[in-house]
Amino acid sequence: MNRPFLPFALPEIGEEEIAEVVDSLRSGWVTTGPKAKRFEADFADYLGGEVQALAVNSATSGLHLALEALGIKAGDEVIVPTYTFTATAEVVRYLGAHPVFVDIDPATYNIDPAAVEAAITDKTRAIMVVHFAGLACDMQRIIAIAKQHDLKIVEDAAHAFPSRYQDKLIGTLDTDVTVFSFYANKTMTTAEGGMLVSRHPAIIERCKIMRLHGISRDAFDRYQSKTPAWYYEVIEPGFKYNMPDISAAIGLHQLKKINRFHEKRCLMAARYNAGLANLPLALPPMPDNINHHAWHLYPIRLTDNATVSRDEFIIKMAEQQIGCSVHFIPLHRQPVWRDNYQLQSSSFPHADSLFQNVVSIPLYTIMTDNDQQYVIETIHALL
Ligand SMILES: *Cc1c(COP(=O)(O)O)cnc(C)c1O
Repeated sequence: MNRPFLPFALPEIGEEEIAEVVDSLRSGWVTTGPKAKRFEADFADYLGGEVQALAVNSATSGLHLALEALGIKAGDEVIVPTYTFTATAEVVRYLGAHPVFVDIDPATYNIDPAAVEAAITDKTRAIMVVHFAGLACDMQRIIAIAKQHDLKIVEDAAHAFPSRYQDKLIGTLDTDVTVFSFYANKTMTTAEGGMLVSRHPAIIERCKIMRLHGISRDAFDRYQSKTPAWYYEVIEPGFKYNMPDISAAIGLHQLKKINRFHEKRCLMAARYNAGLANLPLALPPMPDNINHHAWHLYPIRLTDNATVSRDEFIIKMAEQQIGCSVHFIPLHRQPVWRDNYQLQSSSFPHADSLFQNVVSIPLYTIMTDNDQQYVIETIHALL
């Protein structure tokens, strides 16, 4: 086989990103500084300017900061979907609180609002939603449930930049905090990094302090300020979650390209939808408007009449030089959550059945039309 291996995911890094990183390296200011500040301002602008944004060194850090700022503490319960990456649940444990896992809606693969409602107890303090693959959750119902039971909402928007719920961008809804990820394989990258967004100034203030050791002003403010540069006050045992300028340098230019990236992803999703119709597989859940989906992932489900199992499908695709992946191994199957919370697959029938036959096929901006055509043809030949 002459064709080079087509990886499951690759970032698109241009000369602008490279030059900006080099500029940071030459400037002497490599950690959090002017570029991180500009990246935050640009990101908030992109979301329409009614939110504030804090750059962090991962979405996981951002989710931890969010729950801490909302006052989640030991013994509290936070509702999370089982169909997510472990980061969503682990941050709840960082605070000594307990994740309460719920099933998904099989029509969307997102957290099922009815399951959320059924899981509420007098210890529940917050709901974490995950916009799986980049498709927004049923936020109208989630927000209504949260208001009715006086619960906070944190959006794990690791897949959802940019996604829209109805006509509003994720990050601008009536929730408490939204956190985006810029990990290498996400819809834009800073190598490692994330952005925490909120419309509530008090939450932003708390997250900002806890992001850097519980210090009341960050290093760059000190550098700029008229008061003595060496003076600071530590008011909490905080964390070390700031984004360095070397990462923000990448993010500044990725953000400028995000609309082009998104158009390409939508175009590719439409091509897969057409090219993979009429096969023994289910196409991904679709919003009313294809452009409202971020298309971070393109998860297909092999149906019962498929001639290969999911596992065989992935092996055979790899033999044809195509990388695939599985999103996700649900958390009720991961030893730490399964064993500590005595979780059983039968309690999560929709997530468990999705896991058995789902596969994510490659979709990223530097794939060529020819690459995508090859993926489509290979799937036809396999099925
Ligand atoms: C990638 C991912 C995260 C973690 O993002 P990091 O930036 O790597 O911390 C969290 N939640 C979901 C659903 C993810 O896919």
